[in-house]
Amino acid sequence: MSEFDVVVIGAGPGGYIAAIRAAQLGFKVACIDAGKNKKGDKPALGGTCLNVGCIPSKALLQSSEEFHKASHELEDHGISIDKVKIDIPKMIARKDAIVTKLTSGVGFLFKKNKVENIHGHASFKGKDGEWYQIEVTDDKNSSEVKAKNVIIATGSKPRQFPSVEIDNVNILDNVGALDLEAVPKKLGMIGSGVIGLEMSSVWNRLGSEVTILEALPTFLPMADQQIAKEAFKIFTKNQKLDIKLGAKVLEVHSKGKQVKVKYELDGKTEEVTFDKLIIAIGRVPNTENLNLDAVGVTQDDRGFIEVDENCSTKVENIWAIGDVVRGPMLAHKASEEGVAVAERIAGQKPHVNLDIMPSILYTTPEIAWVGKTEEQLKEAGVKYKKGTSSFAPNGRALAMGAAQGTVKVLADEKTDRILGVHMIGPMVSELLAEAVEALEFSASSEDIARIVHAHPTLSEVIHEASLAVDKRALNG
Ligand SMILES: Cc1cc2nc3c(=O)[nH]c(=O)nc-3n(C[C@H](O)[C@H](O)[C@H](O)COP(=O)(O)OP(=O)(O)OC[C@H]3O[C@@H](n4cnc5c(N)ncnc54)[C@H](O)[C@@H]3O)c2cc1C
Repeated sequence: MSEFDVVVIGAGPGGYIAAIRAAQLGFKVACIDAGKNKKGDKPALGGTCLNVGCIPSKALLQSSEEFHKASHELEDHGISIDKVKIDIPKMIARKDAIVTKLTSGVGFLFKKNKVENIHGHASFKGKDGEWYQIEVTDDKNSSEVKAKNVIIATGSKPRQFPSVEIDNVNILDNVGALDLEAVPKKLGMIGSGVIGLEMSSVWNRLGSEVTILEALPTFLPMADQQIAKEAFKIFTKNQKLDIKLGAKVLEVHSKGKQVKVKYELDGKTEEVTFDKLIIAIGRVPNTENLNLDAVGVTQDDRGFIEVDENCSTKVENIWAIGDVVRGPMLAHKASEEGVAVAERIAGQKPHVNLDIMPSILYTTPEIAWVGKTEEQLKEAGVKYKKGTSSFAPNGRALAMGAAQGTVKVLADEKTDRILGVHMIGPMVSELLAEAVEALEFSASSEDIARIVHAHPTLSEVIHEASLAVDKRALNG
C-alpha cells in the first residue's frame, strides 16, 4: 500500500496542475486518473480539456478556418486555388495527433516532477487516523492508496437530454462531434452555448447547413448584450447559421441515417430532419462512483461538491477544484484553483479571483470578455462610463481581411477603474490578456489610454476604446 502527502483524483487541467504544483512544494504526490485514449486501449492524461474539449475543438476550428479561407477569402488577396477539397479523416487524424502529443506530455511532466501516475478509477473507502483510504480500480485489479490530503478534480460530463440516447453515430455529444467521418449535409445542434457555437462553426465552415435550436430567448445571455447582438447578426446573416431562439425541443427520434426533431417555437410545433444531431446543453459535475459519503464530502442540489472560497470541502484536508465545484467551467479556472489548493496545503495564502475570469468563444469573429457586462452593472446600480471602438478602420484588421467587430471598455463613472472589457473581433482571444491584466491591477481606462500600443496592431482597438471612455478617441 502506498502512502502520499497529497493524492489528486483526476488529471484534467485542474488535477494535473495541482499535482505538479504540490510536488514542486516538496510533497510526495500521486495523481489517479481513469481517462483513456480515443481507442480505449491506453491511459490518456489531460482530462476533458486535452482529450475531448478545449484542444481538439480548437484543432478542428483551425482546420475548418483554413478551409474556409482557402475556399472563400484568398481570392481577395489575388490568390486563386482551382478546387479546394477537405479530407475529413486527415483533419481528424491531425487533431488526434495534437491530442496525443499533449496528453503524453502530461505523463512526461509527471515523471519530471516525480508525481506518481496511477491509472484507474478512484473511490473513497474511509479514514484511518490521519490517512484517507482510496480504492483504485483498473479494469479487474484493485489496490489501495492512503493520503493525508486529497484533491478531487474529477471534472464534468455532458448534460443528458431527457429520454434521448447519445449513440455518437447519429446523435452526438461533444465526443462524437469531434470525430465525424464526413461533413453532414444537414446538421442539427441543440444548444447555442460555447460548445454548441464552436462545433456549429466547424461544420458550417466545412459546408454543413446548420440549424441551432436554443431554448432560451436570449442569445449568449452570459455575454455583454451589445457584443452578443453583433455576434448574432454576423452568425445568422453572414454565416447563415440558422439560430432559432426560444425553440423548445419536444422529441428526438433517430431512424436509419437520420434524426427527426420536434420542437415548439412561438406556440407552433415544427419538425425538422437532420443527418446528424449534436446535443450541447451544458455539462454537469462528475462524481460518479467516488463514494463521497464514505468520508462525508457533501454536494449541493445540482451535484457540485460544496467548497468554500479556498476550495476546501467541509471535511478536513479534502479539497475540490475545477468543473466539479461552483464557478465557470473553464480549464484555466480549474488550473488556477489547482495551484492555489497545493499552495494552501503548503501553508501559503493564495487567492483565485473568480470575478476576473476570462471567457472566450473561438468563433469567427472571436468573442472574449472579462469583468462585468453592462447588464450586470445596471442591475447592481453601478454608475459607469463606456468607450467603444470598431475593428473596421484598424489597419492590421484590414490587412488581415478581418475588419469586423467591436471593443467596449466599461469603467467606473467616478474612479475610472475598469470594470469590464468586452470584445468581438479578430484574435480577441489573444487581446484579452491585456484586459485581464488591467482588471487584476485595478487599472483605469486612462492607464490603458496612456500606454503605447504598437502600430499597426489589433491591440490599438483596445487603446481607442479606452480613449473613447473619455470621449477622446483619435481614429474613430
Ligand atoms: C468541447 C469542449 C470545448 C471546451 N473548450 C474550452 C476552452 O476553449 N477553454 C476552456 O477554458 N475550457 C474549455 N472547455 C471546458 C474544459 O474542458 C473544462 O473546464 C476543464 O477540462 C475542466 O478541468 P477539470 O480538471 O476540472 O476536469 P476534467 O478536464 O474533466 O478532468 C477530469 C479527469 O478526472 C478523471 N476522473 C473522473 N472521475 C474519476 C475517478 N473517480 N477516478 C479517477 N479519475 C477520474 C476523468 O477521467 C478526467 O480525466 C471545453 C469543454 C468541452 C467539452
